[in-house]
Amino acid sequence: MSGKTGLVFFPAFDWAISPTHPEREERLLYTRDTIFEEGVLDLPNIEELAPRLATFHDIARVHFCVPRVQSQVTEAHLIAAGAAMLLGDLIIEGSLRNGFALVRPPGHHAMRVVHGNRGFCNINNEAVLVEYLRRRHGVKRIAIVDSDVHHGDGTQEIFYHDPDVLFISFHQDGRTIYPGTGFTHELGGPLAYARTLNVPLPPGTTDETFLYVVDNLILPVLQDFAPEFIINSAGQDNHYTDPLGSMRFTAQGYAEFTRRLNPHLAVLEGGYAIESALPYVNLAILLALSGHDYSYVREPDYWPGKFKESPERLDQVKRMVDNLLGIWQNRDKADIEKLFGTGKFYQRKKNIYYDTDYIEEEQFEKVRMCPYCPGYIIIESRANRGYGSPNRVFAISVPFQACSCCQAEAADAYEKAKKEGRFDYVYLQDKTTDTYMSYERNKNQEWCSEGPRPEV
Ligand SMILES: [Zn+2]
Ligand SMILES: [Zn+2]
Ligand SMILES: [Zn+2]
Repeated sequence: MSGKTGLVFFPAFDWAISPTHPEREERLLYTRDTIFEEGVLDLPNIEELAPRLATFHDIARVHFCVPRVQSQVTEAHLIAAGAAMLLGDLIIEGSLRNGFALVRPPGHHAMRVVHGNRGFCNINNEAVLVEYLRRRHGVKRIAIVDSDVHHGDGTQEIFYHDPDVLFISFHQDGRTIYPGTGFTHELGGPLAYARTLNVPLPPGTTDETFLYVVDNLILPVLQDFAPEFIINSAGQDNHYTDPLGSMRFTAQGYAEFTRRLNPHLAVLEGGYAIESALPYVNLAILLALSGHDYSYVREPDYWPGKFKESPERLDQVKRMVDNLLGIWQNRDKADIEKLFGTGKFYQRKKNIYYDTDYIEEEQFEKVRMCPYCPGYIIIESRANRGYGSPNRVFAISVPFQACSCCQAEAADAYEKAKKEGRFDYVYLQDKTTDTYMSYERNKNQEWCSEGPRPEV
């Protein structure tokens, strides 16, 4: 077992939403300078690695990209996701102890269906990694802890019905910040109840309360769940200087969090205080991961005691933590029928707004309430603009753990939707066989993952 921390650094010079957008390459260049100047790359247990590219197939294992993966993904996206996959491989194989993917574009707002960019994200890097680890290495249980100031709504949505992926997000209260979700009642679907936990924090929350949540909720839940792999969705925009958030976390707070969480892999998400926060927070996280002293890492305008937590705010968060811990501990006693109803399918309607691309999407989601497996998921989606409107989409996702009955039903539903004529694009994502089909009605053409399906 190696004691090394792997680092992949990829600033994506050729990818930006616009030249002055806060999510831009400079986010990583100051970090790069700081890490270099501090001599961190000379430390014997830190190893910098060149990224590799994820394939379209790896993306299709997670996303229904409309109309196809190629339309939503640039090389930069494949490198960001591929960096996480490369580090994941090396950690599982034991040649690294842990890693930090300091990459962009970010990913945690990208949901299962992708009509365009939302929250600066098209492809969910953490989700691509999770499905890759399960397929390639047979990893069973994985936890994702999201420390970004924004709710990781895309990651939550992708794993909402998956009992083997625990998702915990703490973030600034959704009533005060994008994307406006991430409340304590969002707890996962009927077959994955309490595998989603949200901790909305009041604006102004400091390190003291943040670390209280870590010690009293996140660590005990992780200990119970016993994941084989822990991913930190590492957003640094809870920092007190961040222009997009209103929180008061410091570089020391983030480093302490990283040391206590001890994730296998941290994957960069947000963080927009390019000079005043990112170099310090990213450096402190890297030192914490590699077991080095980070106590000297301090922002130039920070002194100990600068922020005092209000007793009311701490009390409010303590009550929420108690409540969530109770839900977690009693998850197996929850009355699922009372919470979600009975019937062959659990259904919900969703409206999804793509703030970057101004797309409004309507979704109707159905989950097969299977007694033998987590069930397959059917999504009917319609977006008002974006690629090739109209774009009425029918998509089915079959989970890794699916029973043979669910696999057969899903395959039938896919064939039926292709013939029906109600949909422009029809998708089948079968994780049991690692097969990803898409059908485009106008062209009467079927695709298998990354190319046209060969004539039989
Ligand atoms: Zn978060
Ligand atoms: Zn963020
Ligand atoms: Zn089943």
